[in-house]
Amino acid sequence: LSKTAETAAELPGALKSGEHISIMLNAGLSAELEIDHDKWVEGIGLYRTEVPFMLQSGFPSEEEQVAQYQGMLQLFHNKPVTLRTLDIGADKQLPYMPISEENPALGWRGIRLTLDQPEIFLVQVRAMLRANAASGNLRILLPMITSIDEIDDARHLIDRAIHEVEELLGYEIPRPQVGIMLEVPSMVFLIPQLARKVDFVSVGTNDLTQYLLAVDRNNTRVANLYSALHPAVLQALYRIMTLAKRVDLPVCLCGEMAGDPTCIPLLVGMGYRHLSMNGKNIPRVKYLLRHLECNETEQLAAQVLQSSTTSEVRYQISVFMERRG
Ligand code: PEP
Ligand code: MG
Repeated sequence: LSKTAETAAELPGALKSGEHISIMLNAGLSAELEIDHDKWVEGIGLYRTEVPFMLQSGFPSEEEQVAQYQGMLQLFHNKPVTLRTLDIGADKQLPYMPISEENPALGWRGIRLTLDQPEIFLVQVRAMLRANAASGNLRILLPMITSIDEIDDARHLIDRAIHEVEELLGYEIPRPQVGIMLEVPSMVFLIPQLARKVDFVSVGTNDLTQYLLAVDRNNTRVANLYSALHPAVLQALYRIMTLAKRVDLPVCLCGEMAGDPTCIPLLVGMGYRHLSMNGKNIPRVKYLLRHLECNETEQLAAQVLQSSTTSEVRYQISVFMERRG
């Protein structure tokens, strides 16, 4: 990592032309491991709670979860911390909850599983709410949402958990913001309806790519077909941003794309202003942002959105990058 990139990491996320770009962290381990990153980011855009679950030999108790989440909420106090509810399934297994399915990506995973097993969901949400009682910076993120009904059902359980925690503590607790992962294509077509149900969305380009292209993200045989730079994925991302702006729905993007320098000018040009990524990508992304003019990224996006193939998209991005050295 060059000295300049490291210096850029500590500066706020911004373009050369001055526009602010909010940089958030994707996390999944303990707070101690993220201590170095807290000064680089405006909060946690995605905390994958299944990661600590995977490292255990059985379901962590509510108390254990409270301690885990409190570490994160307090380390990033005054900044939003987005805890995603358990996103497991046959493709992301817990050793103590084996699931075997023919089509794991299309099967029992994410919110589908936790709505069917509400006790797992309630214990987890209560732990989040208790951990947040003092800090008040929690945002709850629901994975794999496919329909508005699932949001209603999940919010109903969250309300119940709020009630239970207030009974337990004997005082009113802060209400968390609630959002969903926008990663199943059905939700791309329901943005106005979503805006009435959630406080924010976070675009999961890893799964959105998998589902739009019908390419299993874990199958090496079809890995060459998997690309977030497929023109149809880019059309979806542009549509999400355009429609969300119209209904004032806050949008973050937390898939791997957000930390990929090749994708950054394009995302900025399409209007993305909140990006959440792994810590290791933050210095170079911030460095690159500081060399971009807003209008040139908009021109790039306009041009790329006319493309018919992934290779055309890649070519246009490489010309853009080379031109600017
Ligand atoms: C995604 O799908 O883009 C995402 C961020 O979530 P995960 O990679 O954990 O499925
Ligand atoms: Mg996902």
